[in-house]
Amino acid sequence: MGTEPTFQPFEYMDIENDKIIGFDIELIEAIAAESGIKVEVQSLGFDALIPALQSGTIDIVASGMTIDEDRKLQVDFTAPYINSGLALAVVKSNETIASEADLKGARVAVQIGTTGAMKANELKGKGIVKSVKTYDTIDVLMAELTKGTVDAVINDLPVTQAFIKSGHSEIKIVGEPMNSEQYGFAVAKENTELLKKLDEGLQKVLESGKYAELLEKYDLPENARP
Ligand code: GLN
Repeated sequence: MGTEPTFQPFEYMDIENDKIIGFDIELIEAIAAESGIKVEVQSLGFDALIPALQSGTIDIVASGMTIDEDRKLQVDFTAPYINSGLALAVVKSNETIASEADLKGARVAVQIGTTGAMKANELKGKGIVKSVKTYDTIDVLMAELTKGTVDAVINDLPVTQAFIKSGHSEIKIVGEPMNSEQYGFAVAKENTELLKKLDEGLQKVLESGKYAELLEKYDLPENARP
């Protein structure tokens, strides 16, 4: 299983134990236990996940990956396991950007290969956003926002919320969520057997108390349940 571990609360590093932890990791482990499969976690860049599935380096992507039409041409997704969406964030002292409508002339930071990057490029194409800066990991793009090299970040709402809660009150979320998205686990196109196992396991975990327990453990709201 491949994942990009700077995406708290879904996948992130437990520094003390040098281990990748998070909601996605525990959920896929619970699903694996239901389906009688064994999962080993590997860290990869977000933009390397789909190519790694396609080349067979990994069998599953569990990385807060949004089910999206373009990706569906390349890989297969399980049923949704989380409701999410994009949000706009700026530094607390910023009083000029209060919503998407205020992004005129703004420098926006995003993570490579993400739906946030697609959204920012779309806004640039419309002549709204001035420039899009792409970073490999969420911690780096948040650091750039704090430094002021960019004016705003477009990233998944629950992840930016968790980042702020983890001791980064210098950042704030502004405006309404920019869209609605759902995460799924991805497998290679022809891997229908594994997809079926994951879907059946996910259904069981959703129905058991385990799913609710994980939402609570990772401080995710009840409406994150698909
Ligand atoms: N949900 C977003 C996407 O699929 C971001 C995922 C991530 O950065 N891990 O593009």
